[in-house]
Amino acid sequence: MHPAQDARVILRHADRYDPKLIQGVIGEGLDELGLAPFGRTLVKPNLVIAGPRFDPAWTRVEFAEGVLAALRERASGRVRELAVGERCAITIPTRFVYEESGYSEMLERLEVKRYCFDEVTQVEVPYTHARRLRDYVFVPEPVASADFFVNIPKFKSHPWTTVTFSMKNYIGLQDDRHRMVDHDQALSRKVADLQHVIQPQFIAIDAIVAGEGSTMLAPTPRQLNLIVMGNNQVAVDSVCSRILGLDPRAIDHIRFAHEDGFGPVELDRIALSGDVSLAEARERAHGFRVGLVRVDKFFEGTRVSAYAGPAPGQSADQTCSGGCPGALEEAMEVLRRFDAQAELHMPRLHFVFGDYRGPIEAAYGEKVIFVGDCATFEGTVGDQLVKLESLYRERRAVEPRHAVHQDIFKKMLTTLGEIRAAKHRPYLRLEGCPVSVADLMLILAELGKLPNPYLTSNLALPFAKHYASWRAGTLQRRLTGHAYQHAGTPAPRGAAAPVLPAS
Ligand code: SF4
Repeated sequence: MHPAQDARVILRHADRYDPKLIQGVIGEGLDELGLAPFGRTLVKPNLVIAGPRFDPAWTRVEFAEGVLAALRERASGRVRELAVGERCAITIPTRFVYEESGYSEMLERLEVKRYCFDEVTQVEVPYTHARRLRDYVFVPEPVASADFFVNIPKFKSHPWTTVTFSMKNYIGLQDDRHRMVDHDQALSRKVADLQHVIQPQFIAIDAIVAGEGSTMLAPTPRQLNLIVMGNNQVAVDSVCSRILGLDPRAIDHIRFAHEDGFGPVELDRIALSGDVSLAEARERAHGFRVGLVRVDKFFEGTRVSAYAGPAPGQSADQTCSGGCPGALEEAMEVLRRFDAQAELHMPRLHFVFGDYRGPIEAAYGEKVIFVGDCATFEGTVGDQLVKLESLYRERRAVEPRHAVHQDIFKKMLTTLGEIRAAKHRPYLRLEGCPVSVADLMLILAELGKLPNPYLTSNLALPFAKHYASWRAGTLQRRLTGHAYQHAGTPAPRGAAAPVLPAS
């Protein structure tokens, strides 16, 4: 058989979140691909943020239930462990998101094991491929040890990487400390590097109700009535890109993974099947809005003004696509979910990114926030002359082994302290590379006088309860020496090697 025929993608119609219907479609997909689970079988959904307020940002619980039931039907005693694992958005305990989304109840009912990737041993896995950012990476033990890995992401747009299909879902493998490393202008390369840890044997994308727009945490629902399945991530993501009328080679992480040998982007090298043709899928997705909107454009016409210059290593017309600017967009979208009129109430704010050389049009009393270590500026802010030097550290100076967790409650206090310290100044600076969505949400909430989502009345108590259990568990693992497995760990199992030569 020609290797191209090994990369298979199936497009199936599914018009509702009925676990039985989904189980049937997924089961037929597994059979068509000749796949059955074995050993430690691990299913990775996208629960970056979840619960009804954030539909359709996440892989719906009914979808996961259908996938798990189909896998179990085909287990035939060869599955040692059937588990679901995820690390949701940073600072939020994954156990909290499992509760909010209904996953906890479903997993208990199905007797499926639950892994919070932020609460397990982190394994150091070496990288040896040519274009890597680093020589090693940390991933959770269940990922490093998976025999049969199933990726079940959401079909949605993304502010940093244009789209989220299967490969981008790998960012949810890493805990907070390690996720933030290289989550900057090199994000697409980071996503491609993570492909070298493990490849899934089976991919099933929840595109029944997809998420469109320029945000991944609070996208707009778009009914596509599709389940996309396959056995090769590059092929699956390439077909999904083409459903949206995009050239997969124009999406950096897909192109990088293709060039690293993980699969084909060309349609004539992918075996397509199913009861929905590519043409029909395209028709369903006609006009679908994707991400990667420049931050200054994103906030046009609002009470937030954004000014963006290039990050280190970028040309003058570029902005950091994987870090602070997109984080501000996401932070604003989350706040809009808690107060749809957010921008009507807030005072005017100005955010500056990168090496910005233009004017800042802040009137007297309006705050200017310089975001990120690479922010540099020389000019007038209000009535003050400001000269800001870059604090950016070269990538090789950042050591993942020394990455530390940042406590959200400490962050809140620090944010308040920074705002107070800048009370008599027209500007303040947020350090970090990147500055996280959480940090920017806290700043926007505080300076914009908007509700702080972490303290919203019906969420605050369960959040604090799960947060305390999470941190206590982490502390215990550290004290008992189970937080890390360092270099020398055997190579991970699963379909870990590139499966097809790049064309
Ligand atoms: S500080 Fe922010 S904008 Fe600058 S390189 Fe880092 S992530 Fe990008």
